[in-house]
Amino acid sequence: MSDLNLIDPVAFATEKQSLQGRFLLSQLDERVWSHEYFADKQAEVSFTLQSGTDNLQRLFLDLSVKGTLTLVCQRCMLPLPFELNETSRIVLFEDEKSLDAAMLSDDELEGMLIEKELDVRTLVEDQILMALPFSPRHENCDNAVLEKANQDKPNPFAVLAGLKSNR
Ligand SMILES: [Zn+2]
Repeated sequence: MSDLNLIDPVAFATEKQSLQGRFLLSQLDERVWSHEYFADKQAEVSFTLQSGTDNLQRLFLDLSVKGTLTLVCQRCMLPLPFELNETSRIVLFEDEKSLDAAMLSDDELEGMLIEKELDVRTLVEDQILMALPFSPRHENCDNAVLEKANQDKPNPFAVLAGLKSNR
């Protein structure tokens, strides 16, 4: 399965290929699943990788990563929903000199050196980690505590069922 995520970036972008897939957080690298901000390691993340040549004739990869994740609020430590929806363009460079020059002239640019083989899973992992808020917090933690309290109340029908079965 991991072989499907290995691409030759030059061939991939030259042929304008695309790739889609999904991962559970738990299927990704330890630096992702063991991250203290994630409350649910079974959450699913989907990605789309597209490619082509930009107007400067440079090969690029466009990576989009999406998912509905649950983070841990760093103030009250209760769950905090988080919509992951991150897209970035990674421009491929043959050598460090041209990469450095391009980065200097454009500080928005994300570039990488061409490798024979690129693991798309690693790109997805990097993108998830970069998209995480610096310190995720509820806007209002009191509301989150109230909601949690309501959820914890036993369902009256469940209590009733319990009484019946005890007879
Ligand atoms: Zn909170």
